[in-house]
Amino acid sequence: MTDTMFRFCDDLGPTKIVHLYNPRLGLKGIVVVDNVAAGPAIGGTRMAPDVSVEECFRLARAMTFKNAAAGLAHGGAKSVIFGDPKMPVQKKEQTIRAFACAIRDLTSYIPGPDMGTNETAMAWIHDETGRAVGLPREIGGIPLDEIGATGFGVAIAAEVAQNFCDVTLEGARVVIQGFGSVGKHAAQFLAERGAVLVGASDSRGATVHPDGLDISALIAHKDSGKPVASFPQGTELAGSDIVGVGCDIWIPAARPDVVHKDNVDQLDCKLVLQGANIPMTAEAETTLHERGILSVPDFIANAGGVICAAVEYHGGTQAGAVAAIEEKLKLNTREALQLARDNNLKPREAALRLAKARVLQAMDLRRWG
Ligand code: NAD
Repeated sequence: MTDTMFRFCDDLGPTKIVHLYNPRLGLKGIVVVDNVAAGPAIGGTRMAPDVSVEECFRLARAMTFKNAAAGLAHGGAKSVIFGDPKMPVQKKEQTIRAFACAIRDLTSYIPGPDMGTNETAMAWIHDETGRAVGLPREIGGIPLDEIGATGFGVAIAAEVAQNFCDVTLEGARVVIQGFGSVGKHAAQFLAERGAVLVGASDSRGATVHPDGLDISALIAHKDSGKPVASFPQGTELAGSDIVGVGCDIWIPAARPDVVHKDNVDQLDCKLVLQGANIPMTAEAETTLHERGILSVPDFIANAGGVICAAVEYHGGTQAGAVAAIEEKLKLNTREALQLARDNNLKPREAALRLAKARVLQAMDLRRWG
C-alpha cells in the first residue's frame, strides 16, 4: 500500500505513527515511534508552529541511530506538538498535559525535552503518564543541561578523535559556533583538557582572540544577557565569519545545515565535532572528507544528553551518568572512527553502519522484530 501513512516504512520502521487531536483544547500532535527492538523508545517532544510528520519521522529515525550507537537499551522516537512555544504558560501547561493524556497508553514511547519544551514540561508529562526523561532534580531528574552532559560528551569524543587526526588537545585552538548550553560546556570541558577557545559565536555575532578567550568571563558575560560579540576581551566579527576562523577544532553547536556547499571551503580546521544535530549538509561532509578534515557525526558526538537521560530513567545518579557518558562516548567514537579509517568511509557512513547493525541484531532477538 503506497498510502501516505506508509511512505516512511523501511526495514527498521517506523512501528507506529500516531496523530493526536483534541478539538476542544486545540491540541494537534504527532508521535512517531520508529523502532523498539532494543527497548522502549526515548525521543524529544518538540513544540513549534511549523512541525510536520516528515520532520517527526526524520528525528525519530535519528534517535533510533543515536540510541543504538550509544549502546542504550532504548529504541528511537520523537513527538511534535503544533503551537507557539512562547504561548502563555497556563495554555502551554494545558496543551502539554493534554498531549500527555493522549499518549498515556503509548507505553513504548518515553518523551524527553527538545526545542520548545523543557524540564518543567517533562514534569507535567511525567505527572500524567509516569514516563518522561530530563526531569527536574526535585522529582529525581539529572539536569543534563546544568551539568553539561552533551558538552562533556563532545570533549570525550575529542579525546578519542585526536588519535585519528593531526590534533593534540593540549594547546588545541577551538572555535565554537553557538555559545549556548552545549557550546559553553564543551568549551569548559575541552579547556580542562588543555585546549584554548579562540572564537565563539551566538545568534547575534562572534568574538575572537588568537591567544585564547577567558571562558568563565565569557560565560558570565553571556549569562548577563549580552551577546558574545560585545565581550571586551575579544575582537568582534559577524556571526557568519565564525566558519572561517582558523583553528584546530571547529564545533557547530547551534542550528542545522550551517555548513553547506557555499561555505564549507572556508572551514580552516583539522577536526569538526558535531555538537548540534545535522549541522552540515551531506555534500559538505563529503567535501570535508575529501579535504582530509575529520568530522565526528552528530549522533556519536552529541549523545551525552540522551545517555544522561537513560541513566536517569533507570534510577541512576549524576555520577553514574557522567561515568556512562565517558565510557560510551570513548567506545563508540573509537569504534566508528576505526571502522571509517579501515574502510575509507566517511565517519557518518561508518557510524550508521554500526548503529544499523545493532538495531538489526536487536530485532533478531525479538519475536516480531
Ligand atoms: P541553546 O539554545 O542552549 O544554545 C544555542 C546557541 O546557539 C545560543 O547561544 C544561540 O544564540 C546560538 N545560535 C542560534 N542561532 C545561531 C546561529 N545562526 N549562529 C550562531 N549561533 C547561533 O541550545 P543547546 O541546547 O546548546 O543546543 C544546541 C544544538 O545542540 C541544537 O542543535 C540541539 O539540537 C543540539 N543538541 C543539544 C543537546 C543538549 O543536551 N542540549 C543534545 C544533543 C544535541
